[in-house]
Amino acid sequence: MQTNLAPEFADTSVGAQAQALLRQCVHCGFCNAVCPTYQLTGNELDGPRGRIYLIKQALEGVASTRATQQHLDRCLTCRQCETACPSGVAYGRLIDLGRAIVEAQVPRPASEMRQRQLLRVGLTSPAVKPLLKPAVRAAQSLPESVKSRLPKAVMAHLPERRDPGPWPAPIFGKPRARVLVLPGCVEPALAPAIGRATARVLAAAGIEAVFPRKQGCCGAMRQHLADPQGAGQQMRANLDAWRPYLERGSGSVDTIISDASGCAVMLKDYGHLLAGDPRYGPLAAHASSLARDLSEMLPVLARALQNRVKPPDEVLVYHPPCTLQHGQKLPGIVEKYLGALGFKLRLADEEAQMCCGAGGAYAILQPDLAGRLRERKLGHLLPAETGNPAAIISANIGCILHLQAATSIPVRHWIEALDAALVKDAGVERGPKQAEGKP
Ligand code: SF4
Ligand code: SF4
Repeated sequence: MQTNLAPEFADTSVGAQAQALLRQCVHCGFCNAVCPTYQLTGNELDGPRGRIYLIKQALEGVASTRATQQHLDRCLTCRQCETACPSGVAYGRLIDLGRAIVEAQVPRPASEMRQRQLLRVGLTSPAVKPLLKPAVRAAQSLPESVKSRLPKAVMAHLPERRDPGPWPAPIFGKPRARVLVLPGCVEPALAPAIGRATARVLAAAGIEAVFPRKQGCCGAMRQHLADPQGAGQQMRANLDAWRPYLERGSGSVDTIISDASGCAVMLKDYGHLLAGDPRYGPLAAHASSLARDLSEMLPVLARALQNRVKPPDEVLVYHPPCTLQHGQKLPGIVEKYLGALGFKLRLADEEAQMCCGAGGAYAILQPDLAGRLRERKLGHLLPAETGNPAAIISANIGCILHLQAATSIPVRHWIEALDAALVKDAGVERGPKQAEGKP
C-alpha cells in the first residue's frame, strides 16, 4: 500500500516504521474474515483492513476524529489477523503506532481519561504494586451485600481467594537450568497460585526459578493503551532489575520466562521497542533473545517429569490465548506436551483460534464487545452435548479471569493442572522463599 507521509511524519522513525508495515499490505481483506470485532459489528472500519486504512490516513495528514479513535480502541490486539494475512503484515506493531498517533491528536472525554489513567496506574505502577495484594484480599473478604454495590466491571474479575500452596524447597546440587520468572503484573495479587505452581513444577524438573524483587509490569498494558513512553519506562526499569541476572557470571540465568502469555509476547518485543535507545537497546535485545513463554519449557518439563505425573481421569478443556497462538506463533504447544504426559485435553468445538474478549484491559474498557465474545467462546468451550469438563485451562491471567467471571466451572492455568498432577515424590517439598523470594 503506497503511503505519502505528511511532513510531520516524514524523516521520523515512527513514519518510517509505519510506512514499511503499510507497504506490505495488499488490501486483500483476508484478515477481515477472522477478525472478532468485524464479525460482531459488520463495520469495515472495525476490521483490520479498515483500521489499517485509518492509520494510513492519519500518517498522510488527514485529521483523525473521535470515531477514528473508537475504531482503533475496539481492536483487541488479538493479532488473529496476522495469522490470516498472506503478506505477513505485522498488524500488532502497526496498531500500536497508529493508536499513539491518534491519541496525540484526539482528546478523550474526561471520564474515559480517568478510567484509562486508573488502569495504567492502578494495575501497573510500582508505587501501587505493594498495595494491590492487600486491596484484593480486602475486596475478597467483603460481604456480598457490599460487593454488589461496587463497580460491576471490576468486581466481575475478582476471583475467589484460593490457597496458593507452598514454595518449593531449594534445589540441592546443580540445577538443570536457572530461569528468571516474570509473572503478570496483577497475577501475584489476583492469582498467586499460578506463580507458586510455576515454581513448584520447575523445581520438580530440577530448574531453579528466580523472581527479582524489583521487576514490575512488562509494559504491555501501557503499550496497548497508547502510552509507549510509559511502556518504555517500565521496560527500562525491568532491564535494570534484571541486569545482574543477564550479565555473565555465577548469578546469570539461562532464560527469562513469563507464565502469562500476554507478558511473554511483550518480553520478546523489548529488543524491537528499545532498538533506538543507545543505553538500553543492546540489553533489551539480549533480554528478548532469552525470553520464552512458559509453554516453551514444556519439552524439557515433559522429559523430566514423565513417570512423575498422574494426570486426572477427567477431560480438561483448553483455551489457547491469542498471545500464545497468534502473538507468539506457538499454536498447539500446550496440547502436544500435556497430551504426551497423559492429559486428556479438548479444544473448543469451533473458533478455537478466536479471542475470548479479554484483551488486557479490553474487558474493562469495552465491556459489551468483550462480554459478547466471552459468551460466544464459552458456548464453544462448553457445548451442551459434551457435558461439563472438570476445568477449563488456559495460559494467560487475563483470559483466565475473564472466562471465570462468567462460568462456575473452574478456570485455571495449565501449569496449575500440571502441578496438581505431580506425584508426591516428584521432588517438591515445602521450602522457604526461593532466591529473591516471592513475586
Ligand atoms: S490480509 Fe494482510 S495484506 Fe490483506 S488486507 Fe489484511 S493486512 Fe492487508
Ligand atoms: S488484532 Fe484482532 S481485533 Fe484487532 S484487527 Fe486484528 S483480528 Fe481484529
